[in-house]
Amino acid sequence: NSIIIPELAKEPVEPHINLRPQNFDEYPGQERICENLKVYTQAAKLRGKMLDHCLFHGPPGLGKTTLAGIIAKTMDCQMKVTSGPVIERAADLMGILASLESKTILFIDEIHRLPANVEEILYSAMEDMRLDILIGQGPTARTVKFDLPPFCIIGATTRAGAISAPLRDRFGIQEHLDYYTPAALSKILLRSAKIMNTHLEEDAALLLSKRCRGTPRIANQLLKRVLDFALVSNKVTIDCDIINQSLNRLGVDSEGLSLMDREFLKIMEERYQGGPVGLEAIAAALNEEKSTLEDVYEPYLVYRGFILRTARGRMLSDSGKMHLNNI
Ligand code: ADP
Repeated sequence: NSIIIPELAKEPVEPHINLRPQNFDEYPGQERICENLKVYTQAAKLRGKMLDHCLFHGPPGLGKTTLAGIIAKTMDCQMKVTSGPVIERAADLMGILASLESKTILFIDEIHRLPANVEEILYSAMEDMRLDILIGQGPTARTVKFDLPPFCIIGATTRAGAISAPLRDRFGIQEHLDYYTPAALSKILLRSAKIMNTHLEEDAALLLSKRCRGTPRIANQLLKRVLDFALVSNKVTIDCDIINQSLNRLGVDSEGLSLMDREFLKIMEERYQGGPVGLEAIAAALNEEKSTLEDVYEPYLVYRGFILRTARGRMLSDSGKMHLNNI
């Protein structure tokens, strides 16, 4: 069934090494969210009920899928994974919902990309645990009600604003995941290094943690590349030296910005004198999808204050200009 994605299929590189935390204690960062989720999952278990539907929003790679997996483990539930863009027809979603076993968590990634007619199916399913199936057409059409077993939907999105109000209102638990602090990322990197049987020095972990865009997925990806460089140069221990060398070769600068991030800032400065400029114009100049800039690159540049979003368009901030001048 191609509509259900095999669990954890998103893991990009070296799938045989699973760096995903399996419980809340292995998941540094997002402490407030984790503490609350521990309470909600415990309360649901005490009541013998399923957890309320959850919506996690925030930039890619911050741990939304991982959190859903941890919830499933904590609740002793199985988790099925799917994603908004692969569910094209209402019948696809009905099929998924009708085949859910009791106490299943259905994780829907990129839930903001569900087509409107598919989304409507979710309303009664989430609220009344029921599917209303229309059979036939015209005057003879009738609705058959189909009760669903207890289940929980966990939706993930990079764009909370793109979710319609009726759908958003049906999630009893809504949390925004923010970029990680260097301290939390350091812990993640030290844990990953241990899983990969490598000795990562603490100051090297901190150095790397400051240059991975506040994002665990990027932290782990950079660590894997650093390990490649270390292995080939016969280094057994990962120290600041090899981190600096590797990041330079990867084009990651002192603030953790990638080549693409810098191109983004440069175009604003060189072609638009720092703005204001629309995202469409920047996307065209970079030959990149506007949605990719909006979901992947821009949020971190705004978070770091390199770009300002104004009513008239994007503007390069003074710190953005300063960063460009320093590199
Ligand atoms: P998202 O669903 O938000 O795009 P994922 O849950 O797929 O992000 O996380 C990306 C990767 O980052 C995962 O492989 C996981 O190993 C790692 N990761 C994310 N959050 C954490 C965390 N808090 N602690 C440790 N690793 C994490």
